[in-house]
Amino acid sequence: MRGNGDKDHSLFEALIATAVDGIMVIDDKANVLVYNAACERLFGYEADEVVGRNVNMLMPAPYHDAHDGYVARYLATGEKHIIGIGREVSGRRKDGSTFPMNLSVGEGLLRGRRIFVGIITDLSDRQARERRFQELQTEMWHVSRLTDMGQVAAGLAHELNQPLTAILNYTNTGLDISHEQKDEDLESIFTKIGEQTARAGNIMRRLRSFIEKREPNRTEDNIVRTVEEAIRLGMLDASERGVSIRLKTAAAIPNVFIDRIQIQQVLVNLMKNAADAMEKSPRREINILVTTPSPDFVQISVADTGPGIAPAIADKLFQPFLTTKQGGMGVGLNICRSIVEAHGGRIWAEQGPEGGAVFRINLPVATDGESP
Ligand code: ADP
Repeated sequence: MRGNGDKDHSLFEALIATAVDGIMVIDDKANVLVYNAACERLFGYEADEVVGRNVNMLMPAPYHDAHDGYVARYLATGEKHIIGIGREVSGRRKDGSTFPMNLSVGEGLLRGRRIFVGIITDLSDRQARERRFQELQTEMWHVSRLTDMGQVAAGLAHELNQPLTAILNYTNTGLDISHEQKDEDLESIFTKIGEQTARAGNIMRRLRSFIEKREPNRTEDNIVRTVEEAIRLGMLDASERGVSIRLKTAAAIPNVFIDRIQIQQVLVNLMKNAADAMEKSPRREINILVTTPSPDFVQISVADTGPGIAPAIADKLFQPFLTTKQGGMGVGLNICRSIVEAHGGRIWAEQGPEGGAVFRINLPVATDGESP
């Protein structure tokens, strides 16, 4: 520092002591000269355990052993690897655990001695957040893929059912005619067409029931946690569309016996529908409530601030292929109902007291379950 006197010195000390980032100064033998309070928090060592010792005590293997060599190489060759650049490295805490940190190193002279000043930023929070975000994206992809598969299968089954039925009808007519005309070859061909058409119909039926009503993989589960996770998934889409999602839960919610992925699929679907419905609404809020209206079941309600359900479709909302959206498939709510009913539950829709739609789901309480 330039200038002199106690004033400068105490300012310098205060700056170092109050810095949010770790600040460390080492000499050309890698011995620690300065180690601030932020470093104490990061590494778990007190200053007097570190000052005067080799900085490599704060590094995990293999850097612990290699560091002296790095310093010596730099002093001999002037070749910079980290000095003046900064990079992500690992730190080693007093308890032996390691954490990711950004280290930038500057070089200077202090009373004729070469010193290195390191500034350290803890990256563990950021990395944990990035990891969680990636996990969420993978989960989201998984949940939406299941929904897409269900939609495609349901759509295909429906679309193909009509032409298959028509083929079967024509085949039967052909069969009758060839029978009347005693054309056995033709009769045999029509019989085979009929058999193969029936087989195609069965494949479509099996596919649909496999996707929609597959035996769920159920376990006793905490419904609030399940809803919270679904909200995190829903938020990925909702926040981009200016929609906020809030959750309220009653005090003690008993466990339910559910296939967590399937129930999340239902909830993500309801959130997506709510966001679609609020596209043109000035207020875009989804309020999710988890309650126990009776000791036998828990109720999850998903309310939005959209226009509410169009009266013309209110009583057939859960029927397949009913949609008011351009490019909509109209099978989302139908799949939701299949899933909820397979869980022994019930799903229905109401108009909200202040407008908007409210979807409610009742799920039976797990028989021997209180929350863990
Ligand atoms: P899709 O989303 O493909 O239209 P769904 O079965 O999920 O299929 O929904 C069927 C219809 O129900 C929608 O097209 C919409 O008209 C209506 N709907 C669903 N959710 C809401 C809601 N939150 N508010 C108003 N209408 C809704």
